Amino acid sequence: MQAADIVLVNGIVSTRDDARSVVQAVAVRDGVVALVGDSAQVRELIGPRTQTIDLRGRLVLPGFVDAHAHACMAADDLFKAVVYELPSVRDCVAGVARFAAAHPELPVIRGCGWSNTMAPGRGPRKEDLDAAESARPVVLESSDYHSVWVNSRALELAGIHAGTPDPPGGVIERMPGTGEPAGTLREGAVELVTRLLPEYTVEQYAEGIRHYQRDVAAPFGVTAVFDPMVTPGGAAVQAYERLAADGSLGMWVRAAMEMKPEDDVEQWLRVAVAERDAHRTAPFRISAAKFFADGVVEGHTAYLLDDYADRPGDRGAPLWGAAALARAFAAVDAAGFQIHVHAIGDAATAQVLDALAAVRAENGERDRRPGITHLQLVAPADRLRLAQLNVVAVTDPYWFVMEDYYFQLERPFLGPRADGQYPMRSFLEAGVTVAAASDYPVTIPPAPLVAIQRGVARRQFGGEAGSHAVLGPDERVTVDQMIDACTRGGAFALGLDGVIGSIEAGKSADLVVLDRDIRHARPAAIGEATVALTLCRGRVVHAASGD
Ligand SMILES: [Zn+2]
Repeated sequence: MQAADIVLVNGIVSTRDDARSVVQAVAVRDGVVALVGDSAQVRELIGPRTQTIDLRGRLVLPGFVDAHAHACMAADDLFKAVVYELPSVRDCVAGVARFAAAHPELPVIRGCGWSNTMAPGRGPRKEDLDAAESARPVVLESSDYHSVWVNSRALELAGIHAGTPDPPGGVIERMPGTGEPAGTLREGAVELVTRLLPEYTVEQYAEGIRHYQRDVAAPFGVTAVFDPMVTPGGAAVQAYERLAADGSLGMWVRAAMEMKPEDDVEQWLRVAVAERDAHRTAPFRISAAKFFADGVVEGHTAYLLDDYADRPGDRGAPLWGAAALARAFAAVDAAGFQIHVHAIGDAATAQVLDALAAVRAENGERDRRPGITHLQLVAPADRLRLAQLNVVAVTDPYWFVMEDYYFQLERPFLGPRADGQYPMRSFLEAGVTVAAASDYPVTIPPAPLVAIQRGVARRQFGGEAGSHAVLGPDERVTVDQMIDACTRGGAFALGLDGVIGSIEAGKSADLVVLDRDIRHARPAAIGEATVALTLCRGRVVHAASGD
């Protein structure tokens, strides 16, 4: 046999193959796994140019898959003033001033993360931002993305003045007496300014994606992501394509384009099929259509089977009519797209399952692997339907804890149902394929070892805000089940199970070396484990100092 490029010996290689074999060593050649076996066998592939890594008993897993992460949004980290967690208007203004001074090249200063709690009522004022930057427009999204705070230049460019009426569904906050815009725009008024903002360029998105893989994915062992919302013809898809074509995409990316209820299905398909066909490299493909079935619990927009606990008579509403959703699903399915759906409420998931059953009846049996993500509330009978319809449950184990969100929003709005939210073990018992996802940037950092810890323990550790109580003790799963969700399950969800998700000869050499054997660690210690080495397609994409 030909010499290997890299061999890893003297370790515990948990292959995650069908038999869940554990071996000592693995050899890599030309980006794929050449051999798995004991250290002596693998050492036979050492040639003059082979790099040998002594694992010293450490655990090796397949590269982790994040089955729903907005990777291209990492550009925000580089090109927006990020003011999350800053307590006051003054601190935010100082942050914006620093960012503006550091970025003389940007025509518009964008930012995100200010909190409505720091300026209740009329919201923060344009004059405060003018002090930070007056020559260029400044547009800062609030942490809930429902308001923007702007400076005078932005208002001027958008043509918003005392005589401008509030747009439908929107509010221009105003000074009393004069009616002059105060500096905060809400809901439907937000796009009066945001529609004027330039989209990131291809180069900016490319920088953002490189930042994501270098600083966000690889250090935590992630080698594959599903980016659930890219725009056809947009700069993000061009950036992915450019990186994939020039060999610098250090991960696998599968992406989805969103179809909205108001879209014309035929028109959407023409655009989407052309965009899909434009991307043929192995690392980057557009594979799916994304749908929102409902909203979120905190906005009372999740669609529930029973009323909100704090609003009798209100159970939210679906974003799609049942017949329209089934028609849209059938059309994208017939065109070969995977279906990927956001569903939070139990009624939303039930509606999605009905539509998926209709697709099967109409288009016949095939390996279509639809995915439903978030799955906050799911009726027990629908857990079985997920399995029967071969739906992948794309869960968010990072959220399986009782933090402030639970106490301030979920429990008051849902009542006791909140204690049964985010099922996991019952999915597995029903025979559902489960994948794990972070919904980055909703979860930062999107570290699969934290997902594994939280899936196993369903509680927080240490000083995190909230409680150490267990959320739904019956839904805790094993470390092995969580590892599968972060590897094999994710690979299946992305349609890449023939290529990634397990360490087997012929598969991509996507490997993660951990500093400890999490299979036998206390739950508290799993989240403290670190990634020593990450390989994607046989290339080292992350090495902790010392490796
Ligand atoms: Zn998302």
